[in-house]
Amino acid sequence: MTKVLDEVLQANKEYKDSFDKGDLPMPPGRQFAILTCMDARLDPAKYAGLSEGDAHVIRNAGGRASDDAIRSLVISYKLLGTREWFVIHHTDCGMETFNNEVMGELLSGSLKTASVDASGWHDCCEGGGTTDGKFIEWLTISDQAKSVLSDVERIRNNSMVPSDIPIYGYIYDVKTANLIEVPEATEAGRVS
Ligand SMILES: [Zn+2]
Repeated sequence: MTKVLDEVLQANKEYKDSFDKGDLPMPPGRQFAILTCMDARLDPAKYAGLSEGDAHVIRNAGGRASDDAIRSLVISYKLLGTREWFVIHHTDCGMETFNNEVMGELLSGSLKTASVDASGWHDCCEGGGTTDGKFIEWLTISDQAKSVLSDVERIRNNSMVPSDIPIYGYIYDVKTANLIEVPEATEAGRVS
């Protein structure tokens, strides 16, 4: 067993021994959803005060409004009753460190983990890569406020999203844990 696998199973043992929330209903009790980045420094349960059963948290690289994130949000309201949504990106996001071309090139080089320094990303190895990455839209970020705004707009303008669900746009500061509003995004996401 790997160290991580062992640790995760041990942590689960401890969690389940004091677990008393087995009777929670499926729909989120506080009727809201958060779309945010998968970054390991972000803990939405802590930064937004969530307990089990409270809210949907949809995470991907960047917290972007990808087709799959929208799929989850639509299920979130249509079948499970959420009434307010947050799009929360964050400072120092890894999605600011590359673009489609860079990722395509790195994957063409090899499938090993690349490294980064002041001059950018570098692949470690030669061989065994693939050109498939050149055909993917990686949804990278060049400006956090703009990416929050564009994702709120994309969700707002989706025909499956009801106009009475407000969408709030925020940036989480990884240095201070502060949630900073992106007013133009919240404005774009307001109920009409
Ligand atoms: Zn991120």
